[in-house]
Amino acid sequence: MLTIQVPRSILYNIEPIEIETGLVESLSSYLIRLSYEHNINVSHLVNKIVIPEMNKDYLERSSKYGGNSFYEGAKTINGYTDNSTELVYILGKLTSRIDLTSLTLFKLKDLVPLRNLLKETFSWCPECIKNWKDSHKSIYYPLVWYIKSIKICFEHKCYLLENCPRCYRKIDILRRQMIPGHCPNCFNLLIQGQVIKEINNQEWEWHSFVYLNIESLIGLNSSKLFTKEIVSKQLNYINHYLFSDNVPNFAEFLSIPKSTLRAWIKLENTPTLEGLLKICFKLDTTILDFLTKSLQNLTISHLVEIAKTDNEKVIRRRLNLVSIENSLKEILKCDPPISMAATARIIDRDKRVLYRNFPEYCKQISNRYREYINQKSKQRIEELKKEIQKAFYSLVNEGIYPSSGKIQIKTNRKGLLKERILQEYWKDLLAQNNFYRGKGRNSNDEQ
Ligand SMILES: [Zn+2]
Ligand SMILES: [Zn+2]
Repeated sequence: MLTIQVPRSILYNIEPIEIETGLVESLSSYLIRLSYEHNINVSHLVNKIVIPEMNKDYLERSSKYGGNSFYEGAKTINGYTDNSTELVYILGKLTSRIDLTSLTLFKLKDLVPLRNLLKETFSWCPECIKNWKDSHKSIYYPLVWYIKSIKICFEHKCYLLENCPRCYRKIDILRRQMIPGHCPNCFNLLIQGQVIKEINNQEWEWHSFVYLNIESLIGLNSSKLFTKEIVSKQLNYINHYLFSDNVPNFAEFLSIPKSTLRAWIKLENTPTLEGLLKICFKLDTTILDFLTKSLQNLTISHLVEIAKTDNEKVIRRRLNLVSIENSLKEILKCDPPISMAATARIIDRDKRVLYRNFPEYCKQISNRYREYINQKSKQRIEELKKEIQKAFYSLVNEGIYPSSGKIQIKTNRKGLLKERILQEYWKDLLAQNNFYRGKGRNSNDEQ
């Protein structure tokens, strides 16, 4: 009888840190910790244990690049490409763990493109590393630190660092020799000598939004896969119901080019993770709401369900603003233009509220109206000048001196020449026709 020997795992079955939470460990961190726990270099683990397990294709490709391609490819090791899934498979086999996919962005594979998804070099929160060290916990690198859009540590309200505080060099995602919490260039601890740059409120609003949304996304159970079809479907839905299929309006609302939005809606292209976050930020919704709303069969964290009620309120408020915005756009097109006071009456909103929410539209409406008024008054002056000119020469032809009184009688406009600009015009006519006698400026000159 054939007995199949199931070997105990070749490597220690160490548990990934914070699995199924937003602070889940990254695959590269797991590899570094695995070497550390076995008291060997990363290169030893990779060359002697991992690479021999890899499939031939990968090895061939690897040797073509002088054996360095494993480290070169490490930039995407926490993502979802072949090198990542291959390493998950091999480390899983070696450690007998089945949950290592959670240490990568595999669940985003069908949702966002690789473009701008991962950082080129390592970044970290010095406070987190210090805390783990001080409290004798394992130092590890969370998956979120490798995502390009993540610039902050939410817990410590600080920017992540990208340069070693001692040698100032950037740190590769994976090196042949790495110790958790240490710079692989100078082996200094990555916690000392930091000057932490303050985050202002506006930056914090965006960065914390990004952080919390990504954390909620990667903390999900890895069996939940999202697809780019959902994104396109939701954009279509919003475009239809909120913007009456007016892509330029929707694009303007999102502050993106309309061609980009059209390509997203038609699924000819897909927003990057950051693009997706910007959409959600504009819509005042969470990324999970965006991806799951009206998709009844997906069950996600109940937290999202609770948050939904609030989000709906926010969206309704936004919708209101969208309809006001549309009215303002209509008003910008109306002919003749109307004033902001009239606009406020029509929309039934306080002028100050409109100015606060839509300063650009309001300025445009007000400028357009002022210009219209200016132009109208110029037009009126031109017309009156013509009347004065006509009356002037008609009096001259009749041999009557064209005095202001006579012109006013002739034009049947009482007080016509009291308007300064028209009086000036009448005097110019007098001067041009050599009437220097009589009234106004010319008579004063003669004295
Ligand atoms: Zn931190
Ligand atoms: Zn260093």
